[in-house]
Amino acid sequence: MTHYLLSNPFHAKQEQAQDQLQERADETRRHATLSSRSTPLCSHCRSDDITCVATAQWSNEKQEWELANTFARPAHCNTCDRDGEIVWLPLN
Ligand SMILES: [Zn+2]
Repeated sequence: MTHYLLSNPFHAKQEQAQDQLQERADETRRHATLSSRSTPLCSHCRSDDITCVATAQWSNEKQEWELANTFARPAHCNTCDRDGEIVWLPLN
């Protein structure tokens, strides 16, 4: 009984936190598709000074370089100078 009370609420809380994180990720994705503007933030320091390795291709139609491939490489944060996950913040 005591063991149950000590261990399970903790696990339940962890699972709940995981669910909330997942919900927030889904929410972020939903916002990203619904609103036209969003910005990538470093998940470590929340900086928006983010770069990524990519190939650009010239568009004759637009007369400008277009992003062709980002290679699914991790984004690089210039503020904490490391590769890592990014989170998308909707701009309204
Ligand atoms: Zn950072």
